[in-house]
Amino acid sequence: MTERIKNTITSLEKNGMECFYADKKEGVLPIVKSLIPKGAIVGVGGSVTLNETGVMALLRNGDYEFLDREAPGLSPKEVEAVMKNCLLADWYLTSSNAVTQQGEIYNVDGRGNRLAALNFGPDKVIIIVGENKIVKNLKEAELRVKTVAAPKNAVRLSCATPCAKTGKCISLSSNDPKLTGGCACEQRICRNYLVLGKQKNDGRIKVVICGEALGY
Ligand code: SF4
Repeated sequence: MTERIKNTITSLEKNGMECFYADKKEGVLPIVKSLIPKGAIVGVGGSVTLNETGVMALLRNGDYEFLDREAPGLSPKEVEAVMKNCLLADWYLTSSNAVTQQGEIYNVDGRGNRLAALNFGPDKVIIIVGENKIVKNLKEAELRVKTVAAPKNAVRLSCATPCAKTGKCISLSSNDPKLTGGCACEQRICRNYLVLGKQKNDGRIKVVICGEALGY
């Protein structure tokens, strides 16, 4: 384990988040399996990491009551209903846009369903992050979203945003870029901002850190 991962785990644990470590991405799945009891109601936030680690396939294998927002044939209204039900799930799984070495978890959403579940609702939350998501502090986290996570997600989701074309947020062309600055286009994906800091309910948030890069 690298020093920066060790420091991050120490800081997250000081902030009441339980941490697990997997050297390789293949090590993530056994940790997730060991945590979630069979039969549990499970929801997820949209995440490339969950696909890359095999978590989505695991959840669809029938051992859980999986609230699958990507189930074939769902109408937009039904997808929204699944997202609302996820807020009452026993377990919620997602990744993160950035994790700071100071023990904070930073996420930016368009719709805000993932932020809502991270904040309150599901009994337990598992956040899976590759080492590429670790940054020094919240300033770097903000920059990571504007230069990596948002542009790549905009391309993945086929959103016609400026960052999808240039690879960085339009707010960075200002001398004093604001946290919530950026484009005014209809397909903007950065609308709501959340930092998880010191947790009251120790162990509700579980963070699985992988020594390899995962998602973006
Ligand atoms: S505010 Fe707009 S341009 Fe900036 S990162 Fe978000 S979607 Fe891209």
